[in-house]
Amino acid sequence: MSERVETCSCFCGDITAELKGEPFWINYDHDDDCRKAIGSPLNVWVGYRPSQFRLVSGELRTFSKTPGVVRSFCGRCGTSIGYEDVGIADELYLTIGFFDQPERFPPTVHGYWSMHLPWVTFGDGLDKKDTYTRDRDPATGTPADRKPKNVAKK
Ligand SMILES: [Zn+2]
Repeated sequence: MSERVETCSCFCGDITAELKGEPFWINYDHDDDCRKAIGSPLNVWVGYRPSQFRLVSGELRTFSKTPGVVRSFCGRCGTSIGYEDVGIADELYLTIGFFDQPERFPPTVHGYWSMHLPWVTFGDGLDKKDTYTRDRDPATGTPADRKPKNVAKK
């Protein structure tokens, strides 16, 4: 069997990418930072190793608000694309909307269920974690740990 290859593109098509091999993680994410950054009630993140990612065309723009967290997007159409965190250095998360065949990525767990919107309900039987679904390096802590106190998560 040949290696799995997934293609990705932003809304305007300037940015295209290719992922080789299997993703190691797929999770729903209900946290408020991602909700603001992506503009959706929740997101599904698809986790790959950075070495599996190849940018085919375009140039990623980046933005960082929380120390150690870098989000990428298309500078032309605004599509949210990636999430990287220093606390999980060998993990690259891509938005489900960036994939050309998003139906191939069924999530396996809910993250930050404690922040889910009250009208978002699921009957999928998946685990609902109150915080992150991935453990961070204790040396760096979580993004919530790194936030300045005045904007700390409730
Ligand atoms: Zn674009």
